[in-house]
Amino acid sequence: LLYNTVQDLKGTIRVFCRVRPFLPGQTDGLSTIDYIGENGNIMIVNPHKHGKDARKVFTFNKVFGANVTQQQVFGDTQPLIRSVLDGYNVCIFAYGQTGSGKTYTMNGPDLTTEETWGVNYRALNDLFEISNSRLDFIRYEVRVQMIEIYNEQVRDLLVSDGTNRRLDIWNISQPNGLNVPDASLVPVKCTQDVLDLMLIGQKNRAVGATALNERSSRSHSVLAVHVHGKELVSGSILRGCLHLVDLAGSERVDKSEAVGERLREAQHINRSLSALGDVISSLAQKNKHIPYRNSKLTQVLQDSLGGQAKTLMFVHINPEVSSFGETISTLKFAERVA
Ligand code: ADP
Ligand code: MG
Repeated sequence: LLYNTVQDLKGTIRVFCRVRPFLPGQTDGLSTIDYIGENGNIMIVNPHKHGKDARKVFTFNKVFGANVTQQQVFGDTQPLIRSVLDGYNVCIFAYGQTGSGKTYTMNGPDLTTEETWGVNYRALNDLFEISNSRLDFIRYEVRVQMIEIYNEQVRDLLVSDGTNRRLDIWNISQPNGLNVPDASLVPVKCTQDVLDLMLIGQKNRAVGATALNERSSRSHSVLAVHVHGKELVSGSILRGCLHLVDLAGSERVDKSEAVGERLREAQHINRSLSALGDVISSLAQKNKHIPYRNSKLTQVLQDSLGGQAKTLMFVHINPEVSSFGETISTLKFAERVA
């Protein structure tokens, strides 16, 4: 550790739960959230039961209620992100059913309003700010990749010619720390550069999709930020990598209804999300064998999960009564990795 930006966080895996507010037109007064406690507790109420049996408490590192701002959410994420400049690998996930607020947390509702920027832009902003403040003694280069994993295929979201190249994952650690070495790797110097790339990525993500939303909820998108620093006096090199992952929607698809392509997508999503859960929980239990090989997602992220790496999972909750079943399965998933 070169610079003491992080007073180390206990454990390497943290779970933050975020509750989405009701959207306009949804406020029927009923919510599955009974209360949110100061100390990371959230109590869920089963709308179909009464009395004590209807309530269950889940505990995480932090719970953000519906009125918590993007700035506040980022405030608790910031120390982790800063550690990338000290040479740590960090992985941040957004998990939850479609419509629960994953993209809101990671991207924000729209790129043009700084106030509602999500974790991605704030993170990059921070990295640039800190690296500029260290210019006298260390020079950083920041480069990004954007990929999508759809039906267990990895695609580059930054190819400008629109060809959807399928990419290979290299499982032997690459000297430059890249395990999808063929994905475009673009140097960025300021937040505007990143915003420009995000727009390209979003456009490419829509290629081949019937509707942008449809597709984006069925694929994992990964923003990989590679940081390379050189100390001016000693010449020593440090590398850190930040992976920001907007996961595919975790909702279970009704097997009797899903057929063909839809069923295939659902199976791929299920398999990769449970592979992720398996990896994180075996890391948490300090198992010897970590099953990275079970999905493309965990292979891509292998270097950023485990070892010295730090992991943060945002789990998203939709407060509507109609989402109760998904809410419970989301919280159970989260409890397993916490
Ligand atoms: P997901 O990516 O999980 O499918 P979205 O991030 O697209 O979900 O959120 C669904 C809707 O809810 C969007 O209209 C989004 O703007 C809104 N939303 C989500 N989280 C919040 C929040 N914390 N505050 C205000 N609106 C939110
Ligand atoms: Mg989304």
